[in-house]
Amino acid sequence: MQRRAWLLLAAAALGLGACTTGLPIDTSLRASGQDSRVRFIVLHYTSENRSDSLRLLTQDRVSAHYLITEEPVRIFSLVDESRRAWHAGLSQWFEYPNLNAMSIGIEIVNAGPLDVARTRWAPYTSSQIRVLAALLRDIQSRHHVSAWNIVAHSDIAPLRKSDPGPAFPWRELALQGLGRWYDEAAVAQRIPLISARALADASYIQGLLARIGYPIVQSGVWDSQTRRVVRAFQMHYRPAEYSGRLDRQTVAIAEDLARQMPALQQ
Ligand SMILES: [Zn+2]
Repeated sequence: MQRRAWLLLAAAALGLGACTTGLPIDTSLRASGQDSRVRFIVLHYTSENRSDSLRLLTQDRVSAHYLITEEPVRIFSLVDESRRAWHAGLSQWFEYPNLNAMSIGIEIVNAGPLDVARTRWAPYTSSQIRVLAALLRDIQSRHHVSAWNIVAHSDIAPLRKSDPGPAFPWRELALQGLGRWYDEAAVAQRIPLISARALADASYIQGLLARIGYPIVQSGVWDSQTRRVVRAFQMHYRPAEYSGRLDRQTVAIAEDLARQMPALQQ
């Protein structure tokens, strides 16, 4: 009898499992102190068609766990959830940097901006969003991902990225519990109460945005990074106008989300 076969037989007799290295490892007990490595779900558009998206995501140095195609909608699983996909790049959400290690990345086939000025964006189809919602619900239930940790690539890398863009229906998904949203009635009441001082003070919005997860330097001045983070925030929560210019509605939404944070945080 070969030595390896003998070892496997001996391991079986002892109640030991054998992993692919051939080492006899006992897997009959499980530790109660463990959880999923997945804390975030990051959404992207591919800005390519189906075949180019599949080629890039399988043959290049970028990847994602899932790709949702255009019509007829199909979900491809390209990287096992237990492994790291290379989709987030340099990124941060709350205090967590480099989200590849702790996230699941979902790419959606969508052309992104339709003109150079980035004023028109390709729509997502209702079947894409229906399929995405089912996938998000499935991932969320298995990994217990919080609503405020379902994020845009542009949320976690606002200086580099715009995806999934202002055409993405964040509100529709959030109202199904798939993402974070603000109290719309409370924000409508709050808008006229936002002071001119709050609008003028860069450190105020910088503090609010950091509190609700955005990576932003607390410079205290109106610099280009602040404008770009405000733009990313607007694309997510107020997609009708995302110039990056601060206004009362933007501040009111950020204040409402910040107000939710103590209750939401674990
Ligand atoms: Zn992306």
